[in-house]
Amino acid sequence: MFNKILIANRGEIACRIIRSANKMGIKTVAVYSEADASARHVDLADEAIEIGPAPARQSYLVIEAIIDAAIRSGAEAIHPGYGFLSENAEFAEACEKNKIVFIGPPVEAIMAMGSKSQAKQIMGDASVPLVPGYHGEDQSEALLLSEANKIGYPVLIKASAGGGGKGMRIVNQEAEFSEGLAAAKREALSSFSDDKVLIEKYLTKPRHIEIQVFCDQAGNAVYLFERDCSIQRRHQKVLEEAPAPGMQVERREEMGKAAIAAAQAINYVGAGTVEFIVDEDGSFYFMEMNTRLQVEHPVTELITGQDLVEWQVLVAFGDKLPSTQNDLTINGHALEARIYAEDPDRDFLPATGLLSHLRFPQDNQHVRVDTGVREGDSVSVHYDPMIAKLIVWDRDRASCLRRMSRALDDTQVVGVTTNIDFLSSLVSHPAFEAAQLDTGFIEEHHEQLFLDSHELNDNILALATLYILLDRSDRSKINANNSADSFSPWHSTNAWQANIETIEDVYFLANGTEHLVQIHYKNQSIELLIDKLRISVSGTLNNNGELDAHLDGTRTHVTVVKDGDSLTILHSDYQYTLTALDKTSQNTFEESAPGSLISPMPGKVIDVLVTEGDKVAAGAPLLILEAMKMEHTICAPLDGTVKTIHYKAGDMLDEGVELLVVEE
Ligand code: ADP
Repeated sequence: MFNKILIANRGEIACRIIRSANKMGIKTVAVYSEADASARHVDLADEAIEIGPAPARQSYLVIEAIIDAAIRSGAEAIHPGYGFLSENAEFAEACEKNKIVFIGPPVEAIMAMGSKSQAKQIMGDASVPLVPGYHGEDQSEALLLSEANKIGYPVLIKASAGGGGKGMRIVNQEAEFSEGLAAAKREALSSFSDDKVLIEKYLTKPRHIEIQVFCDQAGNAVYLFERDCSIQRRHQKVLEEAPAPGMQVERREEMGKAAIAAAQAINYVGAGTVEFIVDEDGSFYFMEMNTRLQVEHPVTELITGQDLVEWQVLVAFGDKLPSTQNDLTINGHALEARIYAEDPDRDFLPATGLLSHLRFPQDNQHVRVDTGVREGDSVSVHYDPMIAKLIVWDRDRASCLRRMSRALDDTQVVGVTTNIDFLSSLVSHPAFEAAQLDTGFIEEHHEQLFLDSHELNDNILALATLYILLDRSDRSKINANNSADSFSPWHSTNAWQANIETIEDVYFLANGTEHLVQIHYKNQSIELLIDKLRISVSGTLNNNGELDAHLDGTRTHVTVVKDGDSLTILHSDYQYTLTALDKTSQNTFEESAPGSLISPMPGKVIDVLVTEGDKVAAGAPLLILEAMKMEHTICAPLDGTVKTIHYKAGDMLDEGVELLVVEE
């Protein structure tokens, strides 16, 4: 077996691979960018080598730097993880040239599947069913349009080199074709340096079901059943489960065999995933083959009891597959939720920031947490905004969903906006519980899924006030203990005076609105007056911010995270952030003018679609921003005239800067 392997990746997948390597007694070498010097994967590995500055193009994507690190450290093999160089044939070739084993498929197999168009050609020839479409060489707009017309709308334009849902546009009618094509090509060029596209019939209510396959160097092949990844946003998976609900035994076998046929058509070796799109009547069509480990591989591990990273390493070393098809069985049900730094309420816009507070549920036989970050780490613009994957297992789907709800409740993230609440509403949605799955699920149930954002209520204000009181009294106790006269009345922090009820006002800002809480200090107790309602409060607070509160005799347990004036209340059912206002230093909040457009996140200007003086209608696209490899279109907020444009294509921006102004 190998003595030492290098992991050409970062984040949760690098940590995941290190775990299997440790189990197998193999030493690990991590690589890292300047931004990742103290990242979790660097700490977990036996050795770590810096390979360049923060941007992936200058570090994790630099083939020579990684090969050099492998040679210097004496690593015999490289695991590429997923993303970055995992499906890069040039990288696999460079490994081969330098006598380093690439833990992945042969170069030719990567190349064959690297282009979606070519992959379709090969699969068509191997009689694997395909979605009707065009995947030819001729890329002239006129021809693509006529092919789209032939296929019939809606059609889907896809970047041939695509992945991760990037470079894809749905076109509903001929009139939208030209714009959709331009956008798909632009995104494809910036993400994959290749603007070739293909066109497919767009299925309106499909499921995404993929088959995990594994092949060894001796030509043995097995499939490790399916994963249902139909719950997606922006064509990217958010929830994945195995087995696929409602899957018939015969259909499973049929799909498994088709997947093996697909793998064998390209002499595949290692772990691969054959993705199928499944129509309402159950017919399935080949979409693409991913020649690497998938983000969602853990659900397969939990239902089969296998370690797929271990399998990858064994096969790369030249061992036979650890199991035959007959040995493999499905046990129970598994579900994975991807926790992202993103804002579901702003069209899943990626978010960045410092993870000032981070808690995950305890790992056990039912719950597994795969993550690459720790409290105090940052989610930056440079890399994928995934914070962690929660994976749960139970004997059936219903129990599994309950486990997931609980695991999500037990996950706390402060400092960065996340999709945790959104995932909770997804998992508890009756249609999801009833397994009514299709790739349009999130859009179809949009109203109910986004309704759930928690309203500020009196209890939250009471908890925030109680926290301030207890935190203040804790600090005064510390001060008192440290002073010569610990009983001095000067250390008392409440407005207490003998026999008089005294009152103190505190103000909070939540969602742009100010709220007043009046604290009434009585002889023996404290009462809060909120919106004419009196609530008597008491409680205890420990050093971890855990607040045990009694509100009118009802006990509530929350965690409070304080960051400057901002307080985040974490309850198992909700999370709420509000700001304590210091009225003595009159806070004024700058409001931006109604027609000004602010950059929602740091990024790069890709295109400015208007010039100063242009008349625009509300909703008209004005500027295209790229952040975290995704395009975001900034649209006119009102009918008016473009007054000032502050940036041009190519400019880099910070979050919150004014991009342009539209005057009514
Ligand atoms: P990527 O490689 O970018 O992930 P895929 O080809 O795997 O792109 O497609 C991603 C998702 O887009 C699928 O899971 C599915 O939801 C949707 N999709 C792809 N092709 C079609 C199609 N022909 N009709 C409807 N939806 C599709």
